[in-house]
Amino acid sequence: MPPEETIPGLGDLLGQAEPDDWDRAHAIPKDLLVGFARSGLLCAEVDEAYGGRGLTATRNGELTAAVGEVCGSLRSILTSQGMAASAVLHFGSAEQRAHYLPLLATSGALGAVAFSEPEAGSDLSAMETEIAAKGDSVFVTGQKRWVTAGMYADHLVVFGRHGVGGAAVVVPADASGVTIEPTGTSMGFRASGHAVVSLDEVELPRSALLARSAQAPLSHLAGRTLVYGRLSVAWGGVGIVRACLAAAARHAIRRTQFGLPIARHQLVARRLAELRVAEHLATLACLRAGGSVDARSPAAVMDVVLAKHVAAREAVSASSHAMQVIASAGVKDDGLVARAYRDAKMLELIEGTNEMCELMIAEDAVRSHGGSGLWTETLR
Ligand SMILES: Cc1cc2nc3c(=O)[nH]c(=O)nc-3n(C[C@H](O)[C@H](O)[C@H](O)COP(=O)(O)OP(=O)(O)OC[C@H]3O[C@@H](n4cnc5c(N)ncnc54)[C@H](O)[C@@H]3O)c2cc1C
Repeated sequence: MPPEETIPGLGDLLGQAEPDDWDRAHAIPKDLLVGFARSGLLCAEVDEAYGGRGLTATRNGELTAAVGEVCGSLRSILTSQGMAASAVLHFGSAEQRAHYLPLLATSGALGAVAFSEPEAGSDLSAMETEIAAKGDSVFVTGQKRWVTAGMYADHLVVFGRHGVGGAAVVVPADASGVTIEPTGTSMGFRASGHAVVSLDEVELPRSALLARSAQAPLSHLAGRTLVYGRLSVAWGGVGIVRACLAAAARHAIRRTQFGLPIARHQLVARRLAELRVAEHLATLACLRAGGSVDARSPAAVMDVVLAKHVAAREAVSASSHAMQVIASAGVKDDGLVARAYRDAKMLELIEGTNEMCELMIAEDAVRSHGGSGLWTETLR
């Protein structure tokens, strides 16, 4: 059964989506996002004890794919909200979880996660943002960029240097010293509210510093948070593949050339087969990774990297096949397949580029066959 029939509220959420309008406007109306956040569907794995939906990773994945099939920008915002909740869950004290998780799951507040900086992209160990504790306060100074949902967020989970390691701190978007500006028009996920965030000696109470993150290695903090983010992005890729498959198949049945529906021309049929294979591969990779996360398997981290890599690759390939099948009927910039084509490429850049994923996968292959690591932990 499709998740919109079994997850209360999801059908309503999808029914309110105006993906082409949002893409053209480079924005989603904030009041709609607040409503979606209140429904708990933007971070649906948050436990019911905190007012959340308590979905398994696998169910949340199907939800994410359903959103991603309709609107990649909304799916990106959902991923950011879930990552913010995941950071609080893993690094917050009991009091911090009790404070922040209901905020993200039910109050309508929007969250975003900030790792990347001008000089720290793939190499997050190069982060320069400083989180300094003085007395009862923490001071945050630095610049973050490409913060998805940054233009909508009420709370930013900011990662930075802290003592001999790193830390994560929850920064209210309206705190004194915080400046949030749009990144500018991006090729994909145009309505995701990407932002540049400047933090100038932002003073916060010490309770804003997520207790269990203090002085942990930055690689650990990023890696743990990215397990959620990568799986969410991977399911978003499944959504893109499904949207492309449906659009291409419908068009190939309707459009006639040389006296036949183009689906009957074998070179076109091959592309439909490739799309179906892409959907199968990406879904299976995500189901396996979601199963590993739900089982708390030690294999989960690598299964998630593999799922993200496979789904991103298949989404790029599927959007290219769909564009070829639909041809001139799909090339207007605001059409579903054109949007999918632009959005899909983003998946190969975010939450670890293709190259970073390949290095991690190769390292895992070497280690699991008795070799020593090719690569350092700092890249995770
Ligand atoms: C749409 C979008 C949304 C984003 N959302 C967020 C967000 O919400 N929060 C956040 O913190 N960040 C976000 N980012 C930033 C994103 O995580 C980074 O763009 C990504 O990590 C890559 O960093 P970079 O762009 O600086 O590329 P670079 O790290 O400069 O890499 C450039 C190229 O070099 C390759 N490369 C780098 N090092 C190596 C190596 N050792 N071996 C082989 N190849 C290498 C890379 O794979 C890539 O192809 C977002 C980015 C985009 C585009």
